[in-house]
Amino acid sequence: MKRFLAEIADDFVSLVYPQCCEGCLGTLVKGEDLLCTECLSDLPRTDMHLDPNNALAIRMRGRIPVIAAAAFLRFRKKGKVQRLLHALKYHHRPEIGSKLGYVYGCELAASGFCKDFDLIVPVPLHSARLRVRGYNQAAEWGRGLSEATGIPFDPQALLRLRNTKTQTNRSRINRWENVSDVFAMRNADAIRGKNVLLVDDVVTTGATLEACGQVLLNAECTGLGIACIAIAQ
Ligand SMILES: [Zn+2]
Repeated sequence: MKRFLAEIADDFVSLVYPQCCEGCLGTLVKGEDLLCTECLSDLPRTDMHLDPNNALAIRMRGRIPVIAAAAFLRFRKKGKVQRLLHALKYHHRPEIGSKLGYVYGCELAASGFCKDFDLIVPVPLHSARLRVRGYNQAAEWGRGLSEATGIPFDPQALLRLRNTKTQTNRSRINRWENVSDVFAMRNADAIRGKNVLLVDDVVTTGATLEACGQVLLNAECTGLGIACIAIAQ
């Protein structure tokens, strides 16, 4: 009876405040969550996890050794993915990160991509920015990946020492100088001897992943993988 009443209350709430799809702004039907079924199946997937020589793996080559690298979606200016990521970062919608993580985690698990990884570690936010935003979007994504794959999750392993400015207009060399002393281990024991899957939201040049990856490798993780929500071309 209690459950029945709760369900009626739920239906009533969604009747008065219909939930919108974050992709197309259409009304969600019962059983849909954040994204409508059509948007979910139409997301611009890269299928990188099925191709060891994908564009992200190639982008990281010669910079840091990675076992496997994949980004879930293609990022295009003014596209659906940009809208999702904008809501995730700036409109206080952490659940978009965990939802996408869960969806991709299921696909990764089915493909065998994750079988070698022992721990998921997100690229950290600086404590000042974390305080303002209230959550780390990369960690929300990592939490979803962890729930779907069963790989343990440690959002505290890495630490961001400096609150770097956005780096949109800098060359790769400058970016590297900018990020190389930005990250440190908070807890090296957590990753030593483990294969770590490093996760972030959007990958552009890969400089942030390279810097974090180097810190993890210096702290003696055994192997490194990368999983991002989206890749910008
Ligand atoms: Zn939709």
